[in-house]
Amino acid sequence: MTQQHRPEQTAPEGTRLGELWRILPEESGRIATAAGGELAIGGVGVTELAERYGTPLHVIDEAGLRRQIRRFVDGIRERWPNSEVLFASKSLPAVGMYRVAQDEGLSVDVAGGGELVLALAAGVDPARLHFHGNAKTVAELRLALDAGIGTIIVDNEDELDRLARLLDRRQKLLLRVIPGVEADTHASQATGGARSKFGLPMDQAARAIERMRAHPLMDFEGVHLHIGSQILNTHQFTRAVENISTVGDFPVYDVGGGLGVAYSYDDAAPSVDAYLDAIVAAARAHLPAEAKIMIEPGRSVVARAGVTLYRVVSVKRTGDVFVAVDGGMADQLDVALTGQRYEAVLANRLDEPWDERAQLVGRQCESGDLLVDGAPMPPARVGDLVVMAATGAYSYTLANNYNGALKPAIVFVRDGEARLVARRERYEDLLATQSPALEP
Ligand SMILES: *Cc1c(COP(=O)(O)O)cnc(C)c1O
Repeated sequence: MTQQHRPEQTAPEGTRLGELWRILPEESGRIATAAGGELAIGGVGVTELAERYGTPLHVIDEAGLRRQIRRFVDGIRERWPNSEVLFASKSLPAVGMYRVAQDEGLSVDVAGGGELVLALAAGVDPARLHFHGNAKTVAELRLALDAGIGTIIVDNEDELDRLARLLDRRQKLLLRVIPGVEADTHASQATGGARSKFGLPMDQAARAIERMRAHPLMDFEGVHLHIGSQILNTHQFTRAVENISTVGDFPVYDVGGGLGVAYSYDDAAPSVDAYLDAIVAAARAHLPAEAKIMIEPGRSVVARAGVTLYRVVSVKRTGDVFVAVDGGMADQLDVALTGQRYEAVLANRLDEPWDERAQLVGRQCESGDLLVDGAPMPPARVGDLVVMAATGAYSYTLANNYNGALKPAIVFVRDGEARLVARRERYEDLLATQSPALEP
């Protein structure tokens, strides 16, 4: 890479790049091009990425991702040595991601047979896998037990019935309890309130714990909670730790994930340090000093490291400015599901004044397929490249085939190099599950 192409986090006048760098990947910057500045992620320009891999494309800044993982792993170890950080893999279940997680010292949460299979394919040590879910089937439990799963997080007594039939050796178990914290987040992301479908209320936990303690093959280690996702107020984590301490004294407390991230110009999110300070202060105040503490970040590990790259397919100025891209709610469902505000940038022409407000829309057949409501950008043209920021979490995993859409590829970028981590789906993949049409 020539000096002239070293990405820099500068902000040309008339743009809002200065505010965007804190939500774009850590290793992103502006490179000078003939067309006017272009966005580079991990040292690779977006034009090159789009030409090599096509669009829509999930691009992950691998150096920034690894740095963020180390903030969690080192940060909690310094504060509470008897601890473990589990990657909540439902936020980005790709074999390449599981491998990075394991490399950097994370254990891994899986929430179903599919994620278990992906984690095993990545070579994750089964002893470091934790299996979640409120409706684990017999087949999934069998798969997990056969793989030698480290810990199963039991949700309910039906699951205990199943385990009692299936276990043929000792198995570590945690019990998910409802901590009674109504998390201040979107309803679909709040999981710790009194009416949650996940786990048992604290007053029913005692009986389940008694059953596990009485069973010779059930190695009950402690309790688990998860109050929800995209939580921006650390006080809620403090409250959860305090509440769960009332269930009893155990060797292990898994206090879940949920740390929120900044998605928009206006968002402010707690740092990893502020989050860990809050959790550990609450643990010092309420939990046994010799207990092991586990946390399960997902979103806050991967969200900022990832962006989604789209190409503009049509531009209409009808009173509104509709900039339509070659993806949409099929690959970016979170927007419609939670109403989260995201931001986007016209990534191949950064330097021109951002004096239009675009309705950034997708290509799926729903008016709700609106990716960004009023994105400041220069007047867009067909063929331009749009980058949607902070889409590393819950985008790839929620992708679907609505309107026959194909699940995008994932590339990891680092030091000017790109590597394909998951290929784009093809039409053959769509057809592979279908029986031929019935003969008359
Ligand atoms: C989803 C989930 C997480 C991760 O939540 P984030 O908000 O992505 O950090 C952790 N634990 C459990 C049990 C979950 O369901």
